[in-house]
Amino acid sequence: MKKTKVEIHVPSTWVKYKPSLCKGCFAGCCTLPVVVTAEELYHLGFLKYEEVTGPLKPHVEKLKKKKIIKSFNSRTKLFTLYQHPNNDCVFLTKERLCSVYDRRPFICREFPKNSKRPGFCPNQKFQKDSEK
Ligand code: SF4
Repeated sequence: MKKTKVEIHVPSTWVKYKPSLCKGCFAGCCTLPVVVTAEELYHLGFLKYEEVTGPLKPHVEKLKKKKIIKSFNSRTKLFTLYQHPNNDCVFLTKERLCSVYDRRPFICREFPKNSKRPGFCPNQKFQKDSEK
C-alpha cells in the first residue's frame, strides 16, 4: 500500500497515535500553535500572580517583546505562544525536547486527544544533522 507523506499542517495525512511513536519523533506537535491561559503563563514564570488577576492587555507587549507570546485574543483572554520562524515552539530545544516539560501547558498534555484530528499526530522521525 502506498504511504502518504505526513504534512504537519494537513491533518488528513497524520498517523494514528500510539505512545511508542514519540521515541525518535522530531516533535511535529511542538510546531503547531500553542494556546495558553494567563494562569499557565504564571506557572511558566512569565506573569506574576497579581498580573493574572488584573487586566491582561497591559502585559501583552512585554510578553511579545520577550518572544514568549506571538498574540493575545482579548475576547477569549488566551495567548498564543511565540513560534520560531520554522514554527518550533519557543520552549522546544535543539534536541527537540520540551524545556518546560513538567510545567507544559494543558493543550500539550492532552495532545493528540485535542488535535485537529483527534487521536492522530504528525509523526516523523527526527533526523540528526549527521543522518541527513
Ligand atoms: S510547551 Fe513544550 S510540549 Fe508544548 S509545544 Fe512547546 S515544547 Fe512542545
